[in-house]
Amino acid sequence: MACALPYLLGMLNVLIADDEDSVLELVRVTLEDERVRVVAAHDGVAALSLADQIAPDLVLLDVNMPGHDGVEVCRRLRADARFARTPIVMLTAAARPEDVRRGLEAGATEYLTKPFSPVRLLTLVDTLSPGAAPWQLR
Ligand SMILES: [Mg+2]
Repeated sequence: MACALPYLLGMLNVLIADDEDSVLELVRVTLEDERVRVVAAHDGVAALSLADQIAPDLVLLDVNMPGHDGVEVCRRLRADARFARTPIVMLTAAARPEDVRRGLEAGATEYLTKPFSPVRLLTLVDTLSPGAAPWQLR
């Protein structure tokens, strides 16, 4: 219920964690508008801290990053009742199918292989956002 009011008001909080600035920027430019707030972390420790602070509606996690890797962050989020049902997307290099397997085992909802296009990202976020239909997001 904690997220219901912001959502009714049209705000969607997205947490992105990736150690590459170019990915953070792509996600921000692609998703952020008056209804979508993008909060970025460069490592797994910061990602967990920010998740605790902003209660994200959707989480995007790079697999390979400093601190806790994305799989570990996913596992820790899933162990917290507040994030038991939050959509979590793992960002993985296309060459690493084992990242996908580890991520899904850790409770990830979906995965996105890098490099990804803005259209792929938008489509995925539209699909996974709580109660969202595409016209609610854009
Ligand atoms: Mg990385």
